[in-house]
Amino acid sequence: MKKLLAPLLVLACVAPSQASVGPQPAPAAPAIAAPRDVPFKGRITLKVDASDSVHKIFRVRETIPVQKAGAMVLLYPQWETGSHSATQEAAPLAGLVIKAGARRLEWRRDAVNPFAFHIDVPAGVPQLELEFQYLPAANGPKLISRDMLMLPWSKVALYPAGWFIRNIGVQAELTMPEGFQFATSLETAAADAGHVQFKATSFEDLADAPVYAGRYARRVELTSVPAIPVRLNMFGDNEAALDLPPALVEKFRAMAKAVPQLFRSQHYRHFDLLMSLSDVMLSGGGVEHQESTEINVSANYARDAGEQVLMANLVAHEFIHSWNGRTRQPADLWTPNLNLPMRGSLLWVYEGQTEFWAHVMSRQLGLRSMAQSLDALAVDAALMTNRPGRAWKSLQDSTIDALYMPAKPVNWRDWQRREDYYPEGVMLWLDVDMLLRELTSDRKSMSDFAATFFGAGQDSRTISTYTFDDVCKALNKIAPYDWSGYFTTRLNAHDDTHLLDGLKRGGYQLVYTDQPTEYFVLHEADLGGIDLSTSLGLVIGKKGAVKSVAWEGPAFKAGISLGARLTAVGGKPYTDELLKQAIRDAAASKQPIALTFDADGGAHTVSIAYFDSLRYPRLERIPGTPDRLQRLLTPAL
Ligand SMILES: [Zn+2]
Repeated sequence: MKKLLAPLLVLACVAPSQASVGPQPAPAAPAIAAPRDVPFKGRITLKVDASDSVHKIFRVRETIPVQKAGAMVLLYPQWETGSHSATQEAAPLAGLVIKAGARRLEWRRDAVNPFAFHIDVPAGVPQLELEFQYLPAANGPKLISRDMLMLPWSKVALYPAGWFIRNIGVQAELTMPEGFQFATSLETAAADAGHVQFKATSFEDLADAPVYAGRYARRVELTSVPAIPVRLNMFGDNEAALDLPPALVEKFRAMAKAVPQLFRSQHYRHFDLLMSLSDVMLSGGGVEHQESTEINVSANYARDAGEQVLMANLVAHEFIHSWNGRTRQPADLWTPNLNLPMRGSLLWVYEGQTEFWAHVMSRQLGLRSMAQSLDALAVDAALMTNRPGRAWKSLQDSTIDALYMPAKPVNWRDWQRREDYYPEGVMLWLDVDMLLRELTSDRKSMSDFAATFFGAGQDSRTISTYTFDDVCKALNKIAPYDWSGYFTTRLNAHDDTHLLDGLKRGGYQLVYTDQPTEYFVLHEADLGGIDLSTSLGLVIGKKGAVKSVAWEGPAFKAGISLGARLTAVGGKPYTDELLKQAIRDAAASKQPIALTFDADGGAHTVSIAYFDSLRYPRLERIPGTPDRLQRLLTPAL
């Protein structure tokens, strides 16, 4: 043996496997079992105590059946289906203790993946008993207040690595603050004061079925028997917040009927719109699910007609996602568990087309007037027309934004582009609709795509996935065309040649006038400032604070940057009105605008040679063309 070893050692020195002198990487961390589509024996029990609204702490007890002794990995969900991104944090999970009966089992956090916990399970242990807390960030969006609770189950549960989560059964229980009522798409097994036991479901469904609860709650049935129930569940900061105008509720009733008709399917057993009306909890957004949806508006929503118009798309968008997004999913976006990367190459379908339908539905349901709908499309069109970033970053590249841009500062948004697959997707699908009409002498439209692509055979809850080719094939059946070439050109474009084709084919052009539309005024109120991005190249917040600067626009070139505070216009103390008047005056006098501002600890004055007056986007009819856009937006009789 010794004689044999010696030559080997010499060989190792003479012929090293490395090409250079220096360290080599340490062995990789132990592998985490990939999810497999195999049965999982037994069922997780999950007990969440969310009654501590003072400290805002969720206390969790969970049992996980052991499938076999030895190495086991528990995962804490990292990826969220609503953000398409690894937006969950590992830090808020604390106090984790794992036991087998009376015996405490030591866990080891994975050295490179803080969402994974390794355990050696002794022989004969039937289940693990876990105890931990979820501690939401005090300065982040609130999940518990003294009057309301939002519970995303994926933040309060661990699951074993190695299985598709649709194969892992779970039975959940929830304890809430006293006096709270709740709503969720989960089915209830038993409920008494402050405590609910839900019927067993899969981990996949549980993660897709948040619970909203609160002291001030109101439920409205949006459908009537024999229709599949759609319910609006409202939770407010106070009673008054829940008092939606009856006319608005009627429009939601119309939505509950019209959207399933559009998609010719109803894959939910019942559907719950979970709406928070709050200035305390998070506001101004939504999260999609298959059998429910989260809609977060302000406590004043019921009384604020402007917010109702602004949020019209949000309500429709999140409901539509039940079809486009949750039941039908892009093949590379769907993952078998919540710890594998999601890929967003088709987010221009998932988000872009959903927002296109949201525009259409908002108008058809009367959530917006025709003028408001056209003006809202003008805002999207102007936003995407003024996107210099397209020169370096395509719409297709933008579909990867979800991986690295959420919750990160994107200060030069028109240059960096973030999630442009929403508004640019609207422009794209608008054109597909118009092109379908053109190609078929107005016999076919995107409604045919909705009915066949999201509808056919889709009355079951089973998720199905699609690829780019599937989209092209479905369109080809409606109207033969080189759809692959069509999309490829637009997804990879570095100019805006085709951007407004849909408006043009629809009979409209984007123009700018010196008076804002009614919708634009609402948009500015929502921004909390004045939007001069298509004129001077600035968005200005309260008290002259510069919120954004158009990339290489007039203000940029004059030397104004982010973080500046405007203090004077032409030597007079700054007001928004004074600046607007100065822009109008400069257009007439052709004299530069003098702007004084504080930045980087000093006062500065620049003069801006901008003479094109105020420019607000709106749509204008192209004379002599068919008004297809109006036809798209007009409700079917
Ligand atoms: Zn969406």
